[in-house]
Amino acid sequence: MSEIVSKCDVCGSQHLKKFVDWKTNNTVLSYVICTSCGLVFLSPRPSSHDLENYYLADYRVEQQGTELPTDQKVDFERRRTIHLLQVIESHIPVIDVHLDIGCAAGELIIAVKKLYGCTSYGIEPSIAYRTYLDTELGIPTFPTLPDYIQSTTLKRKSWIWCL
Ligand SMILES: [Zn+2]
Repeated sequence: MSEIVSKCDVCGSQHLKKFVDWKTNNTVLSYVICTSCGLVFLSPRPSSHDLENYYLADYRVEQQGTELPTDQKVDFERRRTIHLLQVIESHIPVIDVHLDIGCAAGELIIAVKKLYGCTSYGIEPSIAYRTYLDTELGIPTFPTLPDYIQSTTLKRKSWIWCL
């Protein structure tokens, strides 16, 4: 079951506006942007319960036959990244921190980091993909958004503590 998202998962703002519709197969995915922090996300989106079950049910194995990133998957991501970069560049002039939720093999992170020179993080539920991102690409990657938020909160506290 899909649900309309009424507030930003990162900053809690309810200032959301339509970002882009993306046609894929027989579905149109609608993205909104939080005008307070810049988070772009799917809305409507499947419920948290449905998403958790989907990604726990061997999603990668079903999609590509293995848990690890394949050459075919990385190539698909590179082609998708070209399209996404065109959308991003036309809407967002500066990016200081990029958080890619559902970053898969990290192709979008690499491209955005290269283009904007920003600090980049990924969120990816797959252990095999997170290991690949951390060890092969050096991109800090977290299993969930709450894990990322907790990590950045801890860093902020440490930074303030140093003052
Ligand atoms: Zn926000």
